[in-house]
Amino acid sequence: MSDTCLFCRIVRKEIPAKIVLENEHVVAFRDIDPKAPTHVLVVPREHVESLDTATDATMLGNLVLAAAEIARAEGIVGGGYRTVMNCGADAGQSVYHVHLHLLGGRRLAWPPG
Ligand code: 5GP
Ligand code: ZN
Repeated sequence: MSDTCLFCRIVRKEIPAKIVLENEHVVAFRDIDPKAPTHVLVVPREHVESLDTATDATMLGNLVLAAAEIARAEGIVGGGYRTVMNCGADAGQSVYHVHLHLLGGRRLAWPPG
């Protein structure tokens, strides 16, 4: 856990967020600046900076499975959805607590910008 990390603070409920799923492994909440009708961030409870420093395959798998569970709950499986993990500056990572974006509810362009 990091004292100053934004997502650690959301996990600890020090900062409010619209939480959509919580279990022993992950916390998932709506992005404050949504880029699609469904835009949820799934984060591990423990602080890991990015995919580049992640070593725990189970932790990473838990993020993906939680995103799939949320997609079912949001009713976006039929239309389809996307998961994205930005890593580093060129990908636009802005919060250095690893997180998986879940985006859906509209047609998503490919490739991303
Ligand atoms: P990144 O750019 O690192 O892949 O994604 C970080 C995401 O966190 C962005 O989509 C941004 O809108 C979101 N975000 C930044 N600050 C907050 C916040 O305080 N609350 C919530 N719910 N989302 C945030
Ligand atoms: Zn953190």
